[in-house]
Amino acid sequence: SGRVQCTPMTGEFDLIQRIRARAGTRDDVVLGIGDDAALLAPPPGMQLAVATDTLNSGVHFPPETAARDIGWKALAVNLSDLAAMGATPAWCSLSLSMPQADDAWLDDFIDGFMALAAMHDVALIGGDTTRGPLSICVNVMGLIEPGRALRRDGAQVGDDIWVSGTLGDAAAALSLWQSDKPMPAELRERLNRPTPRVALGCALAGIATACIDVSDGLLADIGHVVAASGVGAEVDLDVLPASPRLRALAADDAEALRRWQATGGDDYELCFTASPAQTQRVIEAGIASGTAVTRVGCIKAAPGVRALQGDDEWQPVSTGHEHFSI
Ligand code: ADP
Ligand code: MG
Repeated sequence: SGRVQCTPMTGEFDLIQRIRARAGTRDDVVLGIGDDAALLAPPPGMQLAVATDTLNSGVHFPPETAARDIGWKALAVNLSDLAAMGATPAWCSLSLSMPQADDAWLDDFIDGFMALAAMHDVALIGGDTTRGPLSICVNVMGLIEPGRALRRDGAQVGDDIWVSGTLGDAAAALSLWQSDKPMPAELRERLNRPTPRVALGCALAGIATACIDVSDGLLADIGHVVAASGVGAEVDLDVLPASPRLRALAADDAEALRRWQATGGDDYELCFTASPAQTQRVIEAGIASGTAVTRVGCIKAAPGVRALQGDDEWQPVSTGHEHFSI
C-alpha cells in the first residue's frame, strides 16, 4: 500500500552532536545548529549570494578518496561558486547521506571541511543527516554589495579573457587514476583539495565584466559565459598556464596536455573577462590576492568558442564534462 516507512539512521543524533561541536560560529549567527532552522543576521544593504553543489561518491570523487579530502572538496567547490560571483563567504549548511553511522569517518570528514571553513571564516549553521549511498550536498551563502556581483552575462566584445592559477592538473590526476597509474602527490592535491579563489573573486568585483569557475572544462565554461552574454570567444591554447608538474608529465604528449588544460574539469580556477582598459587593475587584483592571472583570449562578436593553436583551430573531442551527455 504506497506507505513509505521512514527509518532514521541509528546514531544520527550522535553524529549531529559531533558535527555541532565543531561547527564554528560568527557574530551574525543568531541561532546555529540545533533548532528547526538557523537564524542569520545579514548586514543591512548587502545582497546574499547563495549556491549549492553536490558530490556523489564514484561520480564526483573516486570512492577510495580519504574522508578528509572529501570534506575539503565538498566545501571548496561551493566556495568556488561564491568566488566566481565575487561574494565573500559567510555561512554554509551540510546535507550528508552516508551508508552507516561511522564516527571515525565523520570526524575526518569534518576535519577537512572545517579546516577550509575556518580559513574563510565560514560558520556551519545547519544541515541534514540521512542514511544512503555516500553523497554530500553543501549550500553556501555569501555577501556582496548590490550591483557588484560577477555574473556570466556581462562579457563585452573586445574584453580580454583571463584565467587564474594553472589549468589541467586535476584532469591529469583523474586520468591517471582512471588508468590505474600512480598519481604524483602535487596532482592528487589539486584534484582532492582544490583552492577556491575567494580573495581573487572579491578583488575582481567591480573590475571584471563576467566570471565563472572552471569546473566543467575551460572551453565549456567559456561557452557558458559567451552564451549568457550573447557574444563569442577566441582562446589561445598556446598560452594556457600549466604547472611544472603537469608539463613534465605531458612532455611527450602535447595533445594530452591540450585536452587536460582546455577540456578537463575540476581545476576550480576562475575564468573572467575584463576590458583591456582594466588590465592594470586585473594584475593588481592578482598580486593583492596572491593568485597568478594569465590573459588567454578575447571576446568576439561571432557566437561560439574558437580554440586556436597558432593560426589553426583546434577541434576537441568534447569541450568538457556534462552529466547525462551519453
Ligand atoms: P529536523 O528533524 O528538524 O530536520 P534534524 O534532526 O534533521 O532536525 O536536525 C537537527 C539539527 O541539526 C538542525 O538544526 C539541523 O540543521 C542540524 N543538522 C542535522 N544534520 C546536520 C549536518 N549534517 N550538518 C550540520 N547540521 C546538521
Ligand atoms: Mg532534518
